[in-house]
Amino acid sequence: MRFEFATATRIIFGAGAAREAGALAKDFGRRALVVTGRNTERAHFLLDSLRSNGVDWVLFPTTGEPAIDTVEQGLAAAEGENCDLVVSLGGGSALDTGKAIAAMLTNSGDVLDYLEVIGGAKALTETPAPFIAIPTTAGTGSEVTRNAVLASPPHRVKVSLRSPLMLAKVALVDPELTCVLPPELTASTGLDALTQLIEPFVCNRANPMTDGLCVEGLRRAARSLRIAFSKGQDKPAREDMAVASLFGGLALSNAGLGAVHGLAGPIGGSFPVPHGAICAALLPHVMAMNLRALRQRDPHGAALYRYEEAAWWLTGDSQAKADDGVKWVRALVLDLRVPRLGSFGIQREHFPDLVTKAANASSMKANPIALTPEELTEILEQAL
Ligand SMILES: [Zn+2]
Repeated sequence: MRFEFATATRIIFGAGAAREAGALAKDFGRRALVVTGRNTERAHFLLDSLRSNGVDWVLFPTTGEPAIDTVEQGLAAAEGENCDLVVSLGGGSALDTGKAIAAMLTNSGDVLDYLEVIGGAKALTETPAPFIAIPTTAGTGSEVTRNAVLASPPHRVKVSLRSPLMLAKVALVDPELTCVLPPELTASTGLDALTQLIEPFVCNRANPMTDGLCVEGLRRAARSLRIAFSKGQDKPAREDMAVASLFGGLALSNAGLGAVHGLAGPIGGSFPVPHGAICAALLPHVMAMNLRALRQRDPHGAALYRYEEAAWWLTGDSQAKADDGVKWVRALVLDLRVPRLGSFGIQREHFPDLVTKAANASSMKANPIALTPEELTEILEQAL
């Protein structure tokens, strides 16, 4: 056994914790680029907190999923305003954008030089500008991951800028920030969090540290996602989902993912669909296909047992079998009214290109069993 575990320098979790942002930021710089989502109103508390701690700021709102040019624009803003730290407040898009800007502030060259798959995949050499991550959704876990997922519209894929140097100085996780998330976003981000607990748990790079995080995260997501969806103001449920998201981020970043994320990369690169919605639509079908492939080609391997164990935590029944876990996820996806892939404009004619690209995705390499192009196509067919 060999494993390694790295994460944000500090993780601070708790209701109201986000109000400490200014006091934390003042140790890292004097002028912050504040990266947010489209709605900057929600950032007022953060801007006030920075100002009252003597930290100046420049606002950089983003829309939609981050692309390479989003990072380039943010970088230009940060350089033009002499920012020496980056604070992101938002969902995975704002967090990943800020993380990438912080990396490019100190490393020379273009973003593309450092991107996996489509770029030079050069290693970052310089320590990025200090980065503070404050998530407002409970889904991506991006506050503790070492990569930023960026779309490249000309290549029609999403790829990562990745380096252990990119880990945040502070991950400030405040579940109260998620209480205003509408049900649809609670569902898609929550199911992304669930996927990011299941995939690392069954993946071929799972390790004892990430296993512990996955089990605890699965328990909490299983008991609280439905409640957070139907009763947004339920604080214990929001707290559970914030823990689940954080633990998913810790797990995926230190173990790996699987076919859901392997397919989600090319789909998200080709269609303007939020990442969480794609993962939600794929999850039950990937689970079922992995089980079928494992029974055919690796019936005595550890992964089948992993799926059974995941089913215990999901269903709360220690007698549950692997298929019960799939059934449970299928019912959840229906209850949370997750749209099918076809509703986003994805059609059968797109499958060959998506499958070819998915086979090369970094997440696919950790799937517990190598899936054939036919099996990946069947998953898309079922999720359509
Ligand atoms: Zn994800």
